[in-house]
Amino acid sequence: MRRKFVAGNWKMNGSLESANALVKALVASIGNSPAADVVVCPPFIHLESVAALVNGSGVSLGAQNLADEEAGAYTGEVSGAMLKDVGCEYVIIGHSERRTLYGEDDALVSKKFLRARDEGLIPILCVGESLEERESGAMESVIARQIDAVLTAAGVQALCNSVIAYEPVWAIGTGMTATPEQAQDVHAFIRSRIAAEDAAAAEGVRILYGGSANAANAATLFGQPDIDGGLIGGASLKAEDFVTICAAAA
Ligand code: PEP
Repeated sequence: MRRKFVAGNWKMNGSLESANALVKALVASIGNSPAADVVVCPPFIHLESVAALVNGSGVSLGAQNLADEEAGAYTGEVSGAMLKDVGCEYVIIGHSERRTLYGEDDALVSKKFLRARDEGLIPILCVGESLEERESGAMESVIARQIDAVLTAAGVQALCNSVIAYEPVWAIGTGMTATPEQAQDVHAFIRSRIAAEDAAAAEGVRILYGGSANAANAATLFGQPDIDGGLIGGASLKAEDFVTICAAAA
């Protein structure tokens, strides 16, 4: 039985004050022993402050990105060791906004995945197809390519000790949620791809859905057999909605 998992990706939103207020409200509602794993991923600049507020609670901390290099002359970058240092346990890797807006290709995503693992961070690896790729029938080959890049670089055990997020690009921030059936089909496809390498590992890996998931649709999505929770963008910025989504994962 896979424990459900819900992560909030706050992206580049909020102030120090609003980040603190949001996480205080979450900690108060979610308590110390939620029925699902709950993670928040604030902007880098707010990590330390949020870390102090989640300390000892049932909410864990993640970052939205990390440098592919260990340390050195990389102006503007944040290393995995720095993220560990401030209390991060997780890091989002290969979000579609990083892939499309910042040119992160499969090779760089795989490098970041390995770097995260080397630093003792658990990657939340994002994969997903664009609308054009879905409509042209390329969806499975795109997802397979994204998964295989990391499988080849890191091996099946590393992938299965991580978290995968299926996030159709056309559903992110658009209000166009994938139907539970559409999402389930892709989750099953990802699991079968991993099962071809190691069936037991594929059974254990958690695969989240992301893309306009909200308080109203979370329970139906999370009720699908291969959907193990969600990576939540917009709805994670409202404490009440995020708490409802976490409860839907219980
Ligand atoms: C995301 O960016 O990871 C995401 C799922 O965003 P939203 O929930 O806003 O679609």
